[in-house]
Amino acid sequence: MSKEISVVVPIYYEEDNIFPLHKRLKGILKEEMGLDYEIIFVNDGSTDNSVFNITKVMQQDSNVKLIDFSRNFGHQIAVTAGIDHSSGKTVVLIDADLQDPPELIKEMYQRYKQGYDVVYAKRKKRNGESLFKKITANLFYRTLDNITDVDIPLDTGDFRLMSRRIVDNLKQMPENNKFIRGLVAWAGFKQTAIEYERNERYSGETGYSLWKMIKFSLDGITSFSTIPLKLASIIGAITSGFSFIYILYIIYLKLFTDITISGWSSAMVSNLFIGGIILLTLGVMGEYVGRIFTESKRRPLYIIKDKRGFKDGEEEIHK
Ligand code: UDP
Ligand code: MG
Repeated sequence: MSKEISVVVPIYYEEDNIFPLHKRLKGILKEEMGLDYEIIFVNDGSTDNSVFNITKVMQQDSNVKLIDFSRNFGHQIAVTAGIDHSSGKTVVLIDADLQDPPELIKEMYQRYKQGYDVVYAKRKKRNGESLFKKITANLFYRTLDNITDVDIPLDTGDFRLMSRRIVDNLKQMPENNKFIRGLVAWAGFKQTAIEYERNERYSGETGYSLWKMIKFSLDGITSFSTIPLKLASIIGAITSGFSFIYILYIIYLKLFTDITISGWSSAMVSNLFIGGIILLTLGVMGEYVGRIFTESKRRPLYIIKDKRGFKDGEEEIHK
């Protein structure tokens, strides 16, 4: 018999969040909703006491499972591994740091019962996050919305409940540079939002460094839009248009007037300008080419060091 809900929790240095998170999850899933559930913790290469604490939780609750990665593969990949190993009729993705209140799962599940395939949680307000994060996140979601064809919901993280058919379709999407919230939107079916206020982190620090954030945003943009590439050709067309007019002007001066062109500054400026544009467009192309390269290697997305709590063959059935 498959579980009603699988909860997938990516873990990156979250040792002090495991117990409170488990307590609240159990409180809502078992005590309040009375459902058959499983919680899959995916340790994404953290070497603190996260795994130890998860095994402690496993001793009290047989519905808790652990996947332990061989190293840090990144948040989206950790979530993917959890999804791959889930067996529930629905799958909930939630962060470990209690920024996403587990109590919302109840409302998500009710919406699912009303016939929705995806119920995602939209951030009405973000508490306890830096101004920098708020501004960049805001900018990111709006840019993404403007340049992609897929309607990726604004201000929405991965906190969501998905039906089995969404999850099964998600598993058919083999890409390396995963942008899960985009893939889910792309999958279609009936999707809806519930709003919430995002809390502060319960304990620990964000695992998203600036570089991880930049990679993540570029993954989002490059997997759902080719507009940056088109932009490169548009900018190229405009600058060569202007250059052509300027060339005609220079030829005219040379042939029909006595004015000699003594323009070191203008030569420098145009050189640097064109050089800058060339490098920029090359960089944009590089982002795409690099991703094609990673995809073409067809390496597995993650390597598991240890797996606990899964009964034999249980996860294989749903592969
Ligand atoms: N996380 C992960 N691998 C990473 C970074 C983060 O599995 O390389 C997990 C982290 O433990 C948390 C979730 O992803 O459960 C969201 O990360 P975080 O809270 O650090 O991001 P933020 O909320 O600051 O955007
Ligand atoms: Mg967080």
